[in-house]
Amino acid sequence: RWSRVKGRLRSTVGEDVYTSWFARMDLEAVQDESVHLSVPTRFLKSWIQAHYAERVLSCWQAEKPEVHRIDLSVRSAMRCAPPAKEAPVAVEARRSDTKPAADMRMPAASPVGAGHDALGGSPLDPRLTFASFVIGRANTLAHAAARQVADGRRGDPVMFNPLYIHAGVGLGKTHLLQAVTWAGNAGGERKVLYLTAEKFMYGFVAALKSQTALAFKEALRGIDVLVIDDLQFLQGKSTQAEFCHTLNALIDAGRQVVIAADRPPSDLESLDDRVRSRLAGGLVVEMGALGEDLRLGILKSRVAAARAHHASFDVPEPVLDYLARSITHNGRDLEGAINRLLAHSKLNSQPVTLDMAEREVRDLVRPQEPKRIKIEDIQRVVARQYNVSRSDLLSSRRTANVVRPRQVAMYLAKTLTLRSLPEIGRRFGGRDHTTVLHAVRKIEALVGKDTALNDEVETLKRQLQE
Ligand code: ADP
Ligand code: MG
Repeated sequence: RWSRVKGRLRSTVGEDVYTSWFARMDLEAVQDESVHLSVPTRFLKSWIQAHYAERVLSCWQAEKPEVHRIDLSVRSAMRCAPPAKEAPVAVEARRSDTKPAADMRMPAASPVGAGHDALGGSPLDPRLTFASFVIGRANTLAHAAARQVADGRRGDPVMFNPLYIHAGVGLGKTHLLQAVTWAGNAGGERKVLYLTAEKFMYGFVAALKSQTALAFKEALRGIDVLVIDDLQFLQGKSTQAEFCHTLNALIDAGRQVVIAADRPPSDLESLDDRVRSRLAGGLVVEMGALGEDLRLGILKSRVAAARAHHASFDVPEPVLDYLARSITHNGRDLEGAINRLLAHSKLNSQPVTLDMAEREVRDLVRPQEPKRIKIEDIQRVVARQYNVSRSDLLSSRRTANVVRPRQVAMYLAKTLTLRSLPEIGRRFGGRDHTTVLHAVRKIEALVGKDTALNDEVETLKRQLQE
């Protein structure tokens, strides 16, 4: 029944709102007329109570008419591991001496500036501000949350912590994070620090080597808002432990943390469970694909920016429409298209025409980006096809009617998603990566010989890609 209530809620409030506010709401107990639900943070609790109490109740009543009261409580938060002992930290720092590039994902030639260097923050692009950020359906919620963070004053209660924004490449994460940094620092009252995850790791490891780690930590904790971009690159056990402690220290001290990554916290495979759950405990917002309106808005804002320096440059409406319709891939390509038109029309002293645009941006016009397929979707579709339940697929049952569908599902997970074998194993009820590998090989071998199975697999693929 709880899942039906959640389904109702999801369809009344919409997917975006649902994932932002309700995805981590759990059912604790149902007792006669009252239902006890829990959420991970105080903020979520008060937000839901203030804005959605009625709707939660009516969704329950639709399933269980006698319910008259909803109690909402805050679950206790997960904590980090006990502070990392110096020994393993030192080992890792030494190990990074031998192969820094591979381990740290940092260019070996980066200047070593120890803790101090990291605290200078990563460079900011002056064009990436709120003023140039175009708001559309895909980013309304993320923008509103980011604005709220940027407009906060020192000492204000922190509404969502951390604010975690995820989206595919080129959808505006870095733009939004840098906008928060510019705006937050503007008053001079607060210190907002923008760091890429790489810079964070590098700063920490460099500080360890030069034995200024303590200063690094203290300085990090002395800022008002910590903004971390591309968190998916945060690697290494001790860096992650350090990140977790910094996160906790900042949050406990009422400081704001803002994070962007290319996937939701649950999909950050290389991250420690504790970090992951702490990340999921704030506000998680996804930015969707740029809709056509948004693409048009971005193009126009780019043209306006270019005209500030090149007054004669103009892009006629039909060209903008053409670009907005045909470049669907990401914001970077939109920017690239305008840059090329600008360069071309300057160099040849020609006005921009549709013909010119078609020629100049041909390579940016791509077929529709394939849909990102989720492991849950694969499990659902496979379970339906073979008439088993999704929990059968995740269970340890080894009867033939479950084993084959499970193998097919793992095979599809490997071929249709970018998830690693260990991650797939984890999502299939905590199986070992060798089990997944075995399943993948098995099905690969079988589809070559068994045409019926091959057809089944192809049908499943088509269903998932639609
Ligand atoms: P990400 O960090 O998600 O990969 P970026 O923030 O680097 O993406 O955005 C890629 C390009 O698209 C940048 O030039 C950025 O300014 C532009 N862009 C993306 N979304 C928007 C938006 N909503 N408004 C204005 N420009 C945007
Ligand atoms: Mg980025």
